[in-house]
Amino acid sequence: MTKTIYPGQTIGIIGGGQLGRMMALAAKEAGFKIAVLDPSMESPCGQVADIRIVAPYNDETALEELAEVSDVITYEFENIDYEGLKRLTEIAYVPQGAELVRITQNRITEKAEIRKANVPVAEYIIATSPLELNAQIDEIGFPSIVKTAFGGYDGKGQVMLHNKEDLPLADPLFEHGACVAEAYVPFTKEISVIVQRNGNGETYCLPVGENIHKHHILHETIVPARVSDIILTQATEAAQQIADHLQLVGTLAVEMFVLEDDTIVINELAPRPHNSGHYSIEGCTISQFHQHIRAICGWPLRKPALFQPTVMVNVLGEHVVPLSKAILKYPNWSIHLYGKDEAKTKRKMGHVTILTDDINKTLKEIKHSGIWSE
Ligand code: ADP
Ligand code: MG
Repeated sequence: MTKTIYPGQTIGIIGGGQLGRMMALAAKEAGFKIAVLDPSMESPCGQVADIRIVAPYNDETALEELAEVSDVITYEFENIDYEGLKRLTEIAYVPQGAELVRITQNRITEKAEIRKANVPVAEYIIATSPLELNAQIDEIGFPSIVKTAFGGYDGKGQVMLHNKEDLPLADPLFEHGACVAEAYVPFTKEISVIVQRNGNGETYCLPVGENIHKHHILHETIVPARVSDIILTQATEAAQQIADHLQLVGTLAVEMFVLEDDTIVINELAPRPHNSGHYSIEGCTISQFHQHIRAICGWPLRKPALFQPTVMVNVLGEHVVPLSKAILKYPNWSIHLYGKDEAKTKRKMGHVTILTDDINKTLKEIKHSGIWSE
C-alpha cells in the first residue's frame, strides 16, 4: 500500500555514500529528517543526517533500530544483504520492496528480467566453473567479457577474453561464485536513462545521458546524448518498459550500448540514483534525488526537462587538489564534493556540472583545465 510521507517525518537511508548524501540534501530542503545506517561515523551522508546508526549494513539490530526511527526506508546501493532488506520490509515501510535488489544484485537474474521485459541484452552464457565456461564459450565467441554475477562495480570483477588462450584469465573470477560471459558489443556510444516511478505507476525518465568512461570509471556525462532521435526514443522506451515490467518504485538507472545500426543493447541496471544522473541537480527542472524522494514518499512526480545542454565530469582522488586550484577560474562550474576524508586515487570524491550552450567548447574547457589529464 502506498503511503504519503510528509515533511517533519524521517527518511531512513541504508548506506552513507555520496548517493545517500545527495538524497538527504534534497530531502532536507523539504524539511524531512534523515537517519542513515553506515559502518562509518563520518560518512558523506552521515555528515548531513539527523540520526546516525553506525554499524554494518546487514547488522540485524541496527536495521531494527533504523526501522524504529524511520517513517520510510530507502537504500543508496544494491549490494545490501537481500535477506536483511526483506526482513526490513516486514517491520518497516520500504516502498521499493526487496525484490528489485534481489534481481539487480545478480547479473544472472538481472539479464533474465531484462529479456522478460522484451528488451535486448548482449548474447550471454552462465558458468559456475572454468570448465563450464570452456564448454560453452563457442556459443558467444570472442572477444567476450566474463563478469562475476555478484558484487562487481567500476569494471571490477571483469575479464576480457580475446581468444581461447585467454580463458585461464577468467579462472580467479570463479572464486567469487558464478559468472556471466557476454559477447563483446562493438558499441559506438554508451548512454544511460534514469527512470523513476512512484507507487501509483507515474513514471518519468531523465533526458538521455551520454557516458564517457576512463579506466572503466565514469568520467563524463554529456546531455543530451549525441545520438539520433531514434536512439533517444528507443532508449527511453526501453527504460520505461523495464520499469513497468519490474513494477518499479523509486529509481532505476539503465546503462545501454548504442550500435552502429541505430539499435540499443542494455548493459546493466542499478536500482538507485546513478552517477550519470548527477547532472540533473543543476541541469534539469527536477533532479534525480528530488524525484527519488518524491517517489518513495508517495508524492506526485514532476516531468523533468533540461534547462540547457549540460556536462558532468567526475572528480576522483587525484583530481581534488588541481580542482581546488582551479575553482576561482571557472565561475560557471558547479562544484560538488562529497566530504570524504581520504582522497585516494580513483576514489569518487565529487563532480563538476557545467551548463552550456556549446558542448564542444565546454568539453575543451574541461580538457584544457589540465585537471583530468592522464
Ligand atoms: P560495472 O558494474 O563495473 O559498471 P559494466 O557491466 O557496466 O560493469 O561494465 C563496465 C564497462 O565495461 C561498460 O561500461 C563498458 O564500457 C564495458 N563493457 C561491459 N560489458 C561489455 C560488453 N558486453 N561489450 C562491450 N563493452 C562492455
Ligand atoms: Mg556499469
